[in-house]
Amino acid sequence: MTQRLFLCLALLLFANALVFAKAPDSSSTSATVQYMANEGLMVVHGQTKVLFDPLFRSSYGQYQLLPRAMKETLFAGAPPFDGIDAVFVSHYHGDHFSPEDILRLLKEQPGIHLYAPIQAVNGLRKVASAQDETIFERVTAVELAYKDAPVTLEMEGLIIEAVRIPHSGWPTGRLDVENISWRVTLNENTTVLHMGDADPNDVHFERDAAYWAKRHTHLAFPPYWFFSSTAGNGILQNRIKPDHSVGVHVPTSVSKIPNLRAVELRGYDLFTEPGEKREIPASALLGVEETVEK
Ligand SMILES: [Zn+2]
Repeated sequence: MTQRLFLCLALLLFANALVFAKAPDSSSTSATVQYMANEGLMVVHGQTKVLFDPLFRSSYGQYQLLPRAMKETLFAGAPPFDGIDAVFVSHYHGDHFSPEDILRLLKEQPGIHLYAPIQAVNGLRKVASAQDETIFERVTAVELAYKDAPVTLEMEGLIIEAVRIPHSGWPTGRLDVENISWRVTLNENTTVLHMGDADPNDVHFERDAAYWAKRHTHLAFPPYWFFSSTAGNGILQNRIKPDHSVGVHVPTSVSKIPNLRAVELRGYDLFTEPGEKREIPASALLGVEETVEK
């Protein structure tokens, strides 16, 4: 055994000892993601829970909708949707955001904070009445034009970073849609990236190369078309460099069985079944490994 390998093992054991000393409950050292539907999902680390694009009403005949029971559980704030801290909306399209449903959620669950592009917040204001005014104290609108620098926000347990990436269809279609890619870090431990309906062209990412490089992403949720595009794969591999990616916005026509999918989607991890989960590896151990590698 080389001295280096021995040091590596010693460090790993030490890190394990630290983890056990600090928190015997493994839920506080690893994170999970649970799929809802389309681009809707919940990320949990310890007591911190966030949702992305959780409530929408349109399937446009081809995308997954939330099962009715899941939607009612969310409104009721019952497990697993108890104690949600924040909800993030990528953009105001009917398969990502329902202003009526988000208004209802904010009214029924007074602990939830909402982060959304100004277009979606304006939609929320349209369906809200004068008595609903107090919910807007928990609403943060981001107003970003294409090419604007990314912004950083914070709330307890969360570092929230937002950048506008054009909706797919750029440069000819849907240019008016404020699509926000949210990079959210839970408890300074786990970073996830929800991209919304991002257009897979490297010009949008090259511009903020330093922003993409500065923070390690544990799990990215690209729309599935990143996987079937050379440029999309390049953005994931060269800019975002996540430990793992799970594709979202998968049409219901795509088989739940990987071997039955079109060739260009085989070999990728996709969310297809509401309720399915993935573990997100604990970053403490990753940090040790990275240190020893150098
Ligand atoms: Zn869209």
